[in-house]
Amino acid sequence: MIETIHQNLLAKKYSALELTQDYLKRATEKNNELNAFITITKTEALQQAKDVDQLIASGAELPLLAGVPASVKDIILVEGVRATAASKILASYVAPYDATVITKLKEQGMVLIGKNNCDEFAMGSSTENSAYQPAKNPFDISRVPGGSSGGSAAAVAADMSVYSLGSDTGGSIRQPASFCGVVGLKPTYGAVSRYGLMAMASSLDQIGPLARSVADTQIVFNAIKGQDKMDATSTPAKPINKEKNFSNLKIGVPKEYFIAGMNSEVEEVIKNTIHVAEKLGAQIVPVSLPHTEQALAVYYIIQPAETSANLARFDGIRYGQRAAIDNGDEKLIDVYKKTRGQYFGAEVKRRIVLGTYILSAGYYDAYYKQAQKVRTLIQQDFKEVFNQVDVLITPVAPHPAFKLGEKMSDPLSMYLEDVFTVPINVAGVPALSVPVGKTKTGLPIGAQIIGPWWGEETLFAVGQTLEN
Ligand code: GLN
Repeated sequence: MIETIHQNLLAKKYSALELTQDYLKRATEKNNELNAFITITKTEALQQAKDVDQLIASGAELPLLAGVPASVKDIILVEGVRATAASKILASYVAPYDATVITKLKEQGMVLIGKNNCDEFAMGSSTENSAYQPAKNPFDISRVPGGSSGGSAAAVAADMSVYSLGSDTGGSIRQPASFCGVVGLKPTYGAVSRYGLMAMASSLDQIGPLARSVADTQIVFNAIKGQDKMDATSTPAKPINKEKNFSNLKIGVPKEYFIAGMNSEVEEVIKNTIHVAEKLGAQIVPVSLPHTEQALAVYYIIQPAETSANLARFDGIRYGQRAAIDNGDEKLIDVYKKTRGQYFGAEVKRRIVLGTYILSAGYYDAYYKQAQKVRTLIQQDFKEVFNQVDVLITPVAPHPAFKLGEKMSDPLSMYLEDVFTVPINVAGVPALSVPVGKTKTGLPIGAQIIGPWWGEETLFAVGQTLEN
């Protein structure tokens, strides 16, 4: 798709401005139903498109992403544009600078259609925790698009943007990609700069692309990756040379990812995908990641702990909204309490309470420190398994897109949706979600291809073959 747009712009089949107007119109119309955008950046988009048209007219070399209509999860900063993180506490916050990923895309002539809806501060698996109403699934608007990058996935699936940037702390790119039938990449931890991404759980967060094909996902990843002096956890790329040819490829199937209680259609589609891979010449190897069962518990200790620390900055003074104080008698602590009490949603408060408890004196060793030890065991599992195989194939989620409201009264059942995606963030390895089938009622199902650290190239090669 991106390559085609690029060729069409060069051949002057349409101008960047015409293409942008077309996307703005569709995004605006469909947003009434899908609520995939919190902000549509019409003025910016039109100006950026005109700049691209000027570049084309000048005859200068045109970057591949120039003029391609994009969107960005509302937790990533774009200078001069409102960034809410889908929270009331940042309802009127305007970003003062560009995230590194945005700087890189702007250098390539990005056209920004708007900022995508998501769960508040990226906590959730359905986009229902947005303070701006949930986004809806384009395949069935009575269902969730997944989350937390649900607006990103819905926008790409409904052709309101060609690609979107999301963030993935425990599955937030891959699960919505799976629910909406698009491709999504969670890169190796450290491959993409987090500068300008509002921090949720810093040791797990990664920015990554969602797009309609593996090729487009790869193009966007190549544009945003790289070490950045503004993010000390970003590291120089260490691309590995793993097998990409199916006739020599070893695919591991971890038994822990096929569990009781998972949806039978999901299981069938994934097993069929593995069967197709075998027919194409890959060697299928049953493997085990023995600490998988502990990954969800480890995640739901580390994630709230880091989140409670990161969200302390929203104090009513430095950023965003401040609750009104009635008389002159109140103390600083009352400003904090009132602001946070009034403007944070229920899930965010739940995680802050959990995280504060986990990090408190007397419990730190029993929870946070213990979770970090088990985290090392989980990483060890992946290290060992990638000595035996090139990639792993698993489901992305145990179910296809569920109904709006279905899990909102039971946080634990929502957390269980993350069972197949969180181990990847806990270990820091990359994983790609690729659409591989549908349920009988037409809901998309994605397969998760997991690679070793810095194995993105292999993921794209395998993903492309499965996509074909
Ligand atoms: N659903 C998970 C959570 O609520 C993951 C969210 C994410 O990846 N941002 O924490």
